[in-house]
Amino acid sequence: MTRAVIAFGANLGDREATIAAAVRAIAEADGIDLAAVSPVYETAAIKDAGVDDGAPRYLNGVVVVETSLDPLALLDLLQRIELEHGRVRTEHWGDRTLDLDLIDVDGMMLDDERLVLPHPRAWQRAFVLQPWLDVEPAAVLAGRGPIAPLRAAASDEVERR
Ligand code: ADP
Ligand code: MG
Repeated sequence: MTRAVIAFGANLGDREATIAAAVRAIAEADGIDLAAVSPVYETAAIKDAGVDDGAPRYLNGVVVVETSLDPLALLDLLQRIELEHGRVRTEHWGDRTLDLDLIDVDGMMLDDERLVLPHPRAWQRAFVLQPWLDVEPAAVLAGRGPIAPLRAAASDEVERR
């Protein structure tokens, strides 16, 4: 079994309902045991050009799972759940009903065309680090170090729901 951290985000539609359904789908999937679900935070949308105050705000958080799936099988599952919740891929970093990203899988470093681990931007995103810190205060991000100081240095604002 490996331990994986999955980040969720939603900024369109009924965000709470989508997140609740996605967490349920993850928890019920074969080969996955849910270990923790973080509090949810509201955050500004971040686009290529930086914070976009004109875009609908996100709800973000993380779940920690124990899984027998390998990382690509886990990514397949997350992408299937995204599609089941109306995810439409248009603009890069565009608004979406549901985004599920794999943040960390037992400290594994991977650079596959479909999957980069740990997630390349997690180290600088409070909307990932803060909820992760809430459920795993001693967590470490491979290649970057403990998440507590990374979270302290992150500049994006998150508001606990
Ligand atoms: P983003 O999450 O960056 O806003 P998408 O959700 O549209 O964008 O993902 C784009 C691609 O990123 C996916 O097709 C997936 O193959 C790839 N990807 C690479 N590394 C990861 C990761 N750690 N977690 C999720 N997707 C990843
Ligand atoms: Mg994604």
